[in-house]
Amino acid sequence: MKQRFKRWLPIIDSINSMLPMREKLVCPNCGEKEVDYAYIGNVETRVGYMVVWCGNCNHGIHVSRVKVPENAELIAFEDEEKFKKKVPAVIQYD
Ligand SMILES: [Zn+2]
Repeated sequence: MKQRFKRWLPIIDSINSMLPMREKLVCPNCGEKEVDYAYIGNVETRVGYMVVWCGNCNHGIHVSRVKVPENAELIAFEDEEKFKKKVPAVIQYD
């Protein structure tokens, strides 16, 4: 696993321990409190992926094949409108 990716792992833990997390977290890349996240998945199986990103520097990560926790908000795979509204198109994946 790349170092640049690894530095986001504590953030994922924080998000998951505080679901449904609404507060933004501190970015491991730029240090601003601008980190947001989204779970995208299948509404029935709740299997999908997670995207975590910083609204300031646009760095982020994509985590595939996750089970979306029951208390997390899930954006359905087919809900492109909601996805586009939430997840910036400019994320630079670490
Ligand atoms: Zn940042």
